Amino acid sequence: MKFIIAGGGIGGLVTAIALKKIGHEVRVFESVEEIKPLGVGINLLPHCVRVLTNLGLQNKIAEIAVETKELVYANRYGQLFWSEPRGRFAGYKWPQFSIHRGKFQMLLWEEALKAIGKENLYTNAHLTSFEQDDQEVRVQFVNKQTGENWPIEHGDVLIGADGIHSELRKILYPNEGGVVYSGNVLYRGTTKMKGYLTGASMAMIGSLRQKMVIYPIVDSLDPDGNQLINWVGNLKMGEEGQLTVRDWNRQADKDRLMEIYKNWQFDWINVHEMIANAESIYEFPMSDRDPLDKWSFGRVTLLGDAAHPMYPIGSNGASQAILDTDALIRAFESTSDPIGALRIYDAERVPAAALVVNQNRQKGPDFIMDLMEDRFPDGFQENEIPHEELAEIMLKYKQIAGFDIQTLNAKH
Ligand SMILES: Cc1cc2nc3c(=O)[nH]c(=O)nc-3n(C[C@H](O)[C@H](O)[C@H](O)COP(=O)(O)OP(=O)(O)OC[C@H]3O[C@@H](n4cnc5c(N)ncnc54)[C@H](O)[C@@H]3O)c2cc1C
Repeated sequence: MKFIIAGGGIGGLVTAIALKKIGHEVRVFESVEEIKPLGVGINLLPHCVRVLTNLGLQNKIAEIAVETKELVYANRYGQLFWSEPRGRFAGYKWPQFSIHRGKFQMLLWEEALKAIGKENLYTNAHLTSFEQDDQEVRVQFVNKQTGENWPIEHGDVLIGADGIHSELRKILYPNEGGVVYSGNVLYRGTTKMKGYLTGASMAMIGSLRQKMVIYPIVDSLDPDGNQLINWVGNLKMGEEGQLTVRDWNRQADKDRLMEIYKNWQFDWINVHEMIANAESIYEFPMSDRDPLDKWSFGRVTLLGDAAHPMYPIGSNGASQAILDTDALIRAFESTSDPIGALRIYDAERVPAAALVVNQNRQKGPDFIMDLMEDRFPDGFQENEIPHEELAEIMLKYKQIAGFDIQTLNAKH
């Protein structure tokens, strides 16, 4: 079969590599003129690393990522109240990686080039419309630089992996409107600084009113012994903090952020100093979209953020896109009927992804931060930590997001 993929982001590229591996013809059309290593850190959880491992990519990813050892939670006084090993350190068959999003995309681009050839991987090709009938789908792309249309592309299946502002989703759901703003603004930055805790720990500090997520994304140290640390501050702003444009590269005011976090100077990490020494800081409205009932229409479907943009809670955005790929591949292995395969894909992934979107709206695993803040606003004594209650919340999220250890380790 011939697949046309709109979007050369993480979901589109992994899908292209995976479809080629099972013998299909694939062409990828990416809107931007040039692929650049944009973004900051993301996490690849064991359930998606399983898929990437089966595509032969684990060792290459390991070379540019940090293998995450543990996840810790602390309150706004820096008191640690939860710690759990992650990935292989927790007994999973697959590691968890923290990685620079842009470097990961570049790696996937190179791998896709090798897999499908440069004659099948295009930039400057922005999807604008499609038509389909019993025989095929016909897709129109435009070069946004010149405004010129590409020749109509013919294929058996069209996959819209074109991100949160998906054009294909807009065509399929013309009345949906914009993204849904959460009332929170995210501040994303990177800082070269001394490592903390294990040197490969992901730390969540504060509550959902004022939070900071911190993790290293490069293993090696620079000549001054510093590691590259990725961080994301999350501030509850309400409607007045509404940022209208969801632009991944909008610069934020460092001084204001330093003031907000000025008391966050703990013996195991100095958050205030980390912000002060940041290279650059980007602000971004935390948004998602309401889950859809259906992603597939005949020969056309959605994948990744185009299908289910979600809050970046629980480190699941990229992982869920790669779980879509996994389900799509199994569906197309099970039948040679493209429309039937997409029905199977929808049946598995539409409800599963909706659960994660909704769970993230309910704070996901970070619910434990608000629980501790509400119960112990002035800090806690060690013997007051409700370990069992916290453990239950953490396990429930893993089950919903598809990475509880028993279920996952039973897979190959
Ligand atoms: C520039 C950028 C920076 C990001 N930085 C971060 C980050 O720091 N942290 C984080 O957690 N997540 C980040 N993300 C989002 C993250 O990559 C996704 O949430 C996740 O990986 C799911 O990937 P995806 O392939 O579905 O979407 P994306 O990674 O967003 O990829 C979508 C791709 O589709 C292309 N595209 C858009 N419209 C069209 C069209 N009409 N036709 C053809 N191609 C189109 C886009 O240029 C993009 O390359 C970023 C995304 C982008 C595009």
